[in-house]
Formats: sequence, structure tokens, C-alpha cells
Amino acid sequence: MKVIEQKGMYTEFPRCGKPHARTTHYCPGCGHGIVNKLIAECCAELGLQDRTIFVDPVGCGVFTYYYWDAAHISAAHGRASAAATGACRARPDAVTIAYQGDGDLGAIGFNNAFQAASRGEKFGCIFINNSLYGMTGGQMAPTTLEGEKTTTTPFGRDPSLTGHPLHVCEVFNELQAPVYIARVSVADTKRIMECKRAIRRVFELQASGAGYALLEILAPCPTNFGMGAIDAASFCMNEMEREFPLGVFRDVGKGVMGAEKTVHPDSKVLAVKEVPRYPTCEALFATPDGTEAPPVEDDPGVPEMRFKFAGYGGQGILSLGICVAEAARLEKRHTLWFPSYGPEQRGGSASCSVVVSGTKIGSPTVEHPDVLVCMNQPSYERFAKDVKNGGLIIVDSSVPVCVDPPEGVELKRVPAIKMAEDFGVPKAANTMMLAALRKFKATGLKDESLETALCASFKKKPQLIEKNRTLLREAEERISL
Ligand code: SF4
Repeated sequence: MKVIEQKGMYTEFPRCGKPHARTTHYCPGCGHGIVNKLIAECCAELGLQDRTIFVDPVGCGVFTYYYWDAAHISAAHGRASAAATGACRARPDAVTIAYQGDGDLGAIGFNNAFQAASRGEKFGCIFINNSLYGMTGGQMAPTTLEGEKTTTTPFGRDPSLTGHPLHVCEVFNELQAPVYIARVSVADTKRIMECKRAIRRVFELQASGAGYALLEILAPCPTNFGMGAIDAASFCMNEMEREFPLGVFRDVGKGVMGAEKTVHPDSKVLAVKEVPRYPTCEALFATPDGTEAPPVEDDPGVPEMRFKFAGYGGQGILSLGICVAEAARLEKRHTLWFPSYGPEQRGGSASCSVVVSGTKIGSPTVEHPDVLVCMNQPSYERFAKDVKNGGLIIVDSSVPVCVDPPEGVELKRVPAIKMAEDFGVPKAANTMMLAALRKFKATGLKDESLETALCASFKKKPQLIEKNRTLLREAEERISL
């Protein structure tokens, strides 16, 4: 196969852990992938690779250091603008580019970014706005649209509860120091070409030491929009551009000052959605069929059980935890589910904690689980040593167990990934692990509850319910005690 070189990028990405990887970690249709390519091209075409320092964020863009062939600094969450300040002051001849998302820049790092812009630090900030937190599961971000559904605004963002969308370009445009502020999009070919011109402009300004530049890029996040790539791009054009008009707000070098915003002719102004106000907790936590959740019943005779589920993002680890928590809820137990993510949704580490108890639960964090389910080696190495004496570790058979489990802890190896592949459903490895939990009676919950919870997890894809029910039962038969 002929390897096509991408200007400005490494030809392979072995640092991501796969020796000859040539694909990025981004989900299909993600705007980051397009922007990454454009940035690499501009940097290379302008001959700036040896002068450029990229400051990488925390968020879905974290792994840009795998891809762009230039110098990199990896900043703590929200601190890319602060790190870029240090870089451009220490190396004034360098071209310093901070790459940040809307959670990273718009929320936790807003003041760092705003003050750097106010001081006119000599770096370019490329800011990806996909209207939510991508890496951590699609929670509301400051840029979330009014009425937009996210995992933390399941009825749509209600400004009376969570404020209005943050317009970063417009806010920064109140400052005196920036030399360039613009908003572009990568939702279609024409916009991508315009985006490349804007990125090139950011590099040119930095190469000439002109001063602070902000480029906001509207980008689709199909995974968290819950859409295919085409619909996600349409969402960017039709709904995001209504809130965040594209255009050059300022380009001092070209004599453009003040807003020069444009709405793309294809943009449609959508009717304002009805947003239900103040949803009740009962509504928020309603059962999948819309009925109210069964009330929790205190039962001091039910001991507290703590679970940890861990693996790679995309293996269904978080869903597996939700199934166990949901099963507990169906049995009127107190329960908590607490996710923890690696640097992106697809491919990075993911884990979640679940606590099930007959009485109120003090903390959702699980440091010493009774049961640990591991789907990859890093998870085993990280969590196995913490399992309680008398506890159980269920680990996928593909994981090399290079460290013995702690004394008094039972280890069971289950070929979950292999079984799922044999069934022709590689994505169902988490269902195989649920079968193992049932087989080993590891949850203290009824088999029917676990099965009902599994089916409920497919409420948005009802065609998969019976398939997964069958997989669960067949896998359980295959797993030996
Ligand atoms: S979660 Fe969204 S922003 Fe993150 S890689 Fe996937 S599509 Fe892109």
C-alpha cells in the first residue's frame, strides 16, 4: 500500500501505542481531524515546523503531539494559554500555537485565556467549539446552545438555570490587545477552505511576531451530538452558526477593526425550541419506559458493594457500570455510578465506579473495590493491587497478568473480547463481562435485574435488545466457573 505523506504530520503515529498506526484517535466525522490536518498543512507550507511550539490541551485534542511534527508542550486542563504565555516569552522567535477546546478554554481555562489575550501575549490560540465537552461524555459546556440536549441538560439547556451560550470571540473582541479575532467552521468544503485561510493567517501573524490571535472554529462532534457525520455538520451550519456567526472580528494587519460578522447563506434560523423548565428529579431519573423510578428502600441487611470497571474507551466499560447500577436501582437499592475518562472518548482509558448499598452511600469514589472488571492491561496494573481481601478480579483473557493479584483476592480470566468476536459482535465484549458477573454471582443482584438493565441500555436501539439478551445468555453458558 502506498503511504501518502501528510504535510506537517508524522508518517506514522507509533507514540499512541500501536507501532504503525496511521489513523488518529478521533471519532469518524469529528471536526478535530479536519482541523489537525489544516494546521499541519499550514505549518509545513509556511516552512514553520522547526520554529513552531504547539501547546496541547486536555480534551479530545490532547493527542496532537502524536500527529504534528513540531515541538510540543502538553498543558494541564485549561492551562494551554498560560503555558503558551511561558513558551512565547521564553522563546520569542518561536511560533507558539495553543490548541484548546470549549471546555478547556471556555470553562476551566477561560480566565487564563482571557488574561493572555488582554496582555497581548504573542501566540495564536486555536479554539475548537463543538458546543459541549467531547472527551468526558458530552456534558454541557459554556458554549452549549440554548435548548441543546447534553448529558447534563437532558431536557435542553435552560438559560434560566445554566446561563446563556458564551460568545468567546465577541467577549475577546472587547479587549484592546488582540491583533486578530475570527470565527470559522469546518462543516463543509467551502468553510474548510476558509478555515485554512484563517489558520494560515494565525501562523503568519505569529511568524511576524504581531501579537495575540484568536481563531474560533465551529466543529462537529457526531459522537456526542448523537448524529451521523452529515447531520452533525448540518447542526454546525444550521444551529451553531445561528448562535455563533462566522466572520472576521478583527484583523489589525488588514485594517479590519470591530465586528464584520457574516451568516452563511445556507444557515437556517430555526424556531426556538420549547424548553421544559425545572424538570423534576423523578422526570430526570425516570425508567426507560417513562415510568417513575422505583423508590429506594433502606435495608441495613444489604451490605455495601463497591465495583470498579476499567478498560479502553469504546469497550463499553461505562455502559457496563451503568447496567449494574441500573440493576441495583431496579431492586430499590441505593446506588451511585461515577465515571472517569482518559483523554478522549474513543481509545483512551476509561473507568467507572459503582456502589450498591442497602443504606445511604457516603461517597461515589471507589478506592478499594470488592469486584474489579478489567478489559485491558493498564487497568489491571493500575487497579488490581487495590482490590479488597476476599474480593474478585475478572480480567479479559487477552490481558497479560504480569502481576499477581493481592493475597486473598480471586482472579478469574474470561475471554470476553474473543467471545464477542466469535459471536460476530465485537462491540459486545461488555455484555460478555456482564454475563461473567452473573455467572460468578459477583454483584449480589438478581439475574433478571441485570438482564432488564442490559435491555434498558439499548432503549435508543431497540433492534439490539433481543440480540444482546441472547448474547448474554449464550455467553453465560460458555463461561466456566
Ligand atoms: S467525542 Fe466528539 S470531539 Fe471528541 S473525538 Fe469524538 S467526535 Fe471528536
